[in-house]
Amino acid sequence: MHDLLTTLEEKILPVVRAAAIAVDKNAEFPQQSIDALRAAGLFGLISAKDCGGAGLGSDVAAQVIERIATECGSTAMVMAMHYSAAAVIEKFGSAELRKKTATTDLATLAFSEMGSRSHFWAPLGTAVASGAEIKLDGHKSWVTSANHAVNYVWSAKPIKAEGASSIFLVPRRSAGLQSGDAFDGLGLRGNDSTSVSATAVTVPATNLLHSDGAGLAVMLETVLPLFNLLNAACSTGIMQGAVAATITHVTKTKHEHLGTALFDLPTIRAFIAQMQIETDKIKLLVADTATAMLAERADTMLRVLQCKAAAGAASVQVTELAMRVCGGAAFRKEAGIERRFRDARAAIVMAPTTDQLYDFIGKALCGMPVF
Ligand SMILES: Cc1cc2nc3c(=O)[nH]c(=O)nc-3n(C[C@H](O)[C@H](O)[C@H](O)COP(=O)(O)OP(=O)(O)OC[C@H]3O[C@@H](n4cnc5c(N)ncnc54)[C@H](O)[C@@H]3O)c2cc1C
Repeated sequence: MHDLLTTLEEKILPVVRAAAIAVDKNAEFPQQSIDALRAAGLFGLISAKDCGGAGLGSDVAAQVIERIATECGSTAMVMAMHYSAAAVIEKFGSAELRKKTATTDLATLAFSEMGSRSHFWAPLGTAVASGAEIKLDGHKSWVTSANHAVNYVWSAKPIKAEGASSIFLVPRRSAGLQSGDAFDGLGLRGNDSTSVSATAVTVPATNLLHSDGAGLAVMLETVLPLFNLLNAACSTGIMQGAVAATITHVTKTKHEHLGTALFDLPTIRAFIAQMQIETDKIKLLVADTATAMLAERADTMLRVLQCKAAAGAASVQVTELAMRVCGGAAFRKEAGIERRFRDARAAIVMAPTTDQLYDFIGKALCGMPVF
């Protein structure tokens, strides 16, 4: 096992585990866990070694997100967004920016907008060139780590080129950026996923990442495969956490008047079997998607679309079963079941949403253009 994974298991997951209930209950950003991940060098997991990263692949990133998500979905999603933004910065950013992203500076994606909503590929916000600067205006509907990231990877309409979008690096501290009300959501409550508006935000022209009008290519080629993989890994981790918490509950909980434990009931054992089967199916699909991405297999895009849709649906199903198996006890926070039941639901509506993925997959299978 790579040293970073050992450190994750032995030093960081205990921190994430200890914070998870309070992060959810108080809707607080998992600062301590993110600091521990940064200190251990996990910000730079997929960044190249020449800029202080570990130079590892998306397959390892998926393993890391899955392991974190077994303990805390919010922390896992903050890191999934960081890696997704870091992939863009790694490809198109300056050496200094790449180094900071790999070592110290949390990054995130600011794609979804209030106007075009889950259609992340169609920003309505604008970018206007003015000398050596670019002026950005726009209304982002959800930005994970909105008040904690150092940098946003930000989409807007192209400055003047053809195409649906361009991608910019926008420092969070830029004048004219305003985040919305604190996030008080159903699930992933520690994500700090607020809205962010830009009013005449000025960035240097060099903050255009890639070329003007190339935003869709960046989204589809660099962001979508990694984000979908990591989102699916997050769902897998949530399922694994739910299975483990369920087994803990049913093996220690007794019907004392009968002298039996919950796991003495065949129905309970059958539900646990179904939960494990679903979890393992998705784990294999996620692993195969990572393999396809690394090998640039012909079916990579199909797998990328399938894995997020399948993992989102399965995690909803598995956490529902966990609620049923653990009975009324599952409603209490200390069992760790209802938090995962709520966290699992985010994957369905995070763009590309499950409904969009079904449409994209159906189009691909029917030989139609997907995008
Ligand atoms: C916890 C959380 C964190 C997030 N973090 C980020 C982030 O860091 N950065 C970011 O950019 N975004 C982020 N998002 C936003 C996310 O990616 C989606 O854009 C958002 O959840 C979509 O919600 P909406 O209400 O705007 O959806 P709508 O677009 O209003 O969709 C409503 C319904 O219509 C369906 N629908 C829409 N279009 C189609 C279609 N073409 N075909 C079939 N069905 C369709 C959807 O599936 C959905 O069921 C986050 C969201 C959540 C919940």
